[in-house]
Amino acid sequence: MKDLVIDLEAEKNEILKRYRALLRACKSTLEKGDKRMIRKAFDMALESHSDMRRKSGEPYIYHPIAVAQIAAEEIGLGTTSIVCALLHDVVEDTDVTLDDIEREFGKKVAKIIDGLTKISGVFDTNSSLQAENFRKMLLTLADDVRVILIKLADRLHNMRTMEFMPRDKQLKLSSETVYLYAPLAHRLGLYAIKSELEDLSMKYMERETYQFIKNKLNEKKAEREKFIRDFSEPVKKVVEGQGLVADVFGRPKSIHSIWNKMKKKAIPFEEVYDLFAIRIILDSTPENEKSDCWKAYSIVTDLYRPNPDRLRDWISSPKANGYESLHTTVMGPRGQWVEVQIRTKRMNEIAEKGFAAHWKYKESSTDSGLDLWVQKVRDLLKNPESNALDFLDDFKMNLFSDEIFIFTPKGALIQLPLNATALDFAFEIHTDVGASCIGAKVNHKLVPLSYKLQNGDQVEIITSSKQVPKEDWLNFVVTAKAKAKIKSSLKEEKRRIAETGKEILERKLKSLKITYNSENIHKLSYYFKLPSTLDLFFEVAKGTIDMKDLKEYQASEKVIENKPQDKIEAEQVQSLVRTLKAKDADMLLIGEDMQKIDYKLANCCNPIPGDDVFGFVTVSDGIKIHRTNCPNAAKLMANYGYRVVKAKWTNQQELAFLTGLRITGIDEVGLINQLTTVISHDFKVNIRSITVDSDNGIFEGTVMIYVNDTHHLDNLTKRLKMIKGISTVTRFDSIEKAS
Ligand code: MN
Repeated sequence: MKDLVIDLEAEKNEILKRYRALLRACKSTLEKGDKRMIRKAFDMALESHSDMRRKSGEPYIYHPIAVAQIAAEEIGLGTTSIVCALLHDVVEDTDVTLDDIEREFGKKVAKIIDGLTKISGVFDTNSSLQAENFRKMLLTLADDVRVILIKLADRLHNMRTMEFMPRDKQLKLSSETVYLYAPLAHRLGLYAIKSELEDLSMKYMERETYQFIKNKLNEKKAEREKFIRDFSEPVKKVVEGQGLVADVFGRPKSIHSIWNKMKKKAIPFEEVYDLFAIRIILDSTPENEKSDCWKAYSIVTDLYRPNPDRLRDWISSPKANGYESLHTTVMGPRGQWVEVQIRTKRMNEIAEKGFAAHWKYKESSTDSGLDLWVQKVRDLLKNPESNALDFLDDFKMNLFSDEIFIFTPKGALIQLPLNATALDFAFEIHTDVGASCIGAKVNHKLVPLSYKLQNGDQVEIITSSKQVPKEDWLNFVVTAKAKAKIKSSLKEEKRRIAETGKEILERKLKSLKITYNSENIHKLSYYFKLPSTLDLFFEVAKGTIDMKDLKEYQASEKVIENKPQDKIEAEQVQSLVRTLKAKDADMLLIGEDMQKIDYKLANCCNPIPGDDVFGFVTVSDGIKIHRTNCPNAAKLMANYGYRVVKAKWTNQQELAFLTGLRITGIDEVGLINQLTTVISHDFKVNIRSITVDSDNGIFEGTVMIYVNDTHHLDNLTKRLKMIKGISTVTRFDSIEKAS
């Protein structure tokens, strides 16, 4: 009894200590009365969360305090946001209502808290509840960006403190993070938070690779630091000799970005040359910023030879998220390429804190790319797609891409994502211009709608009043705005056509003596495997479904179940999930449960025993087993977390699993013979197929083989690498592109 009292007492002190640290963190922005507001929010949060604890056993209040601290310290937000961060979980998890919040803290705070509160309700299989929640969050983004910023702080703290969560929760949170939160942080210019979110997700989704790269980085740390010193010292000396005040240092790249490079270029860790970048941060005045940066550039390139293809000037044209910097890649003293980033202190603060810092400096910059972006999001959300998932996909695509700058005929600058086409440009100018676009002149030359624009192009759009949006336009536009507009226009058109289809169908059913009612219409759509009755009417109007098809339907009518398709599917999924969760520890044992439960190995990632895996309940195809690092995993788990079941392998050496290896090397006589000997003779592995391409003595091949597990595969890979002439052997994910 006594122990418990002491414990609680210590906890109370710790809570106050953390609260005071929070106050110190927001000191610089505090104005009169702010402290009282923060205290009031803290008291309310403390009181309402008082009986709750986190998975780690710590008092729950640690979490909102930490989120508020991140908001203040790492994002640079002010008092209203601190108050909201402290209260962010109160409405969702306790008895406090939005009305209570509004009464105590006013409309603004209540509105932000509302944006931070999840939609609750029952899921159905067609509209992922998670996708709807993402959309709600994005909708509030258009009202008040602070909602997203606090949400990011919340997510960051949850990711930092995830060790005590069950594995499936870890995977779900990590997937959502790479799927949406990291791209959002990137878009809002919060680079430090973006990198940390990506690294933390990778730590849980690809545990082994993460640890491998981390160890590798530690091994060479001293050597790398010496290199950075040798590189920076001469730069610093000359820079200061010319009267500039500068900080020159090396910054390591994130584990996630190193891993991305390894994957993208298919190279081992040892061949990734840019494990760090050199930063030159200048102390400058607003009027000298630009010339000082170029002065530093000139010094660096006098000392080291620059790669002419690798100069990026984001000072003259800042990125849409506000990022300003000068990047170049130069040949370092030991013959390796080194990336150098040059910017001023002001630019650096924007690079690190993104939106909030941008806000602070807003007076001094004439137009802000970020404001434009938020405006774009607002426009996009005005007519949102009916399907939240589709909307998210389009929206997400625009989060990560780099931008290009295009000129109008009058010389105005328009920002577009990389790979944008002439048609995207037209929609960017105005919806009507896009919808009636028949071609364009790029730098005075006539080009088709699908023409991919290049940085600096000047574009003039040609329109015709007879033009209407076409289905195939969706194949080449890249901006979310163009996509949404084309889709809604096509849907409008489809609806119009379906109207006539409806009348035709009514007549045809009458002549077949089938009653025209909603039950029969649903049965028909189900029979023809169409997603909705609108599609049914549409197909009838187009003539794809004619009298003959309807007669066939009539003949088979008695065997069809009297239920709409989506309902059947929802029930199937729910009952499957129920069966699984009822089993011991809701863990699917692959191998043992094979007979009892219907599951298959996904062919997008071809898992083999030893791989980290999870089960995903599909609507029509039972349970699919995916690798946690499957290219589709993040999307599946982020949007359909409730369909994910934990899974692990049981010991079973007898079964063989299909996997693929990509092999490159120098084509020598007898190489293929040696390969197949090692695979089928030495390792007794069955080969399903082997394809080889040889070009100018360079050999590239893929082998599909049956192995027992990852251990077996690793040994085989090692042995293959020892064959003379072979340079790389890598496993690849997918035999075919499927989900
Ligand atoms: Mn929270």
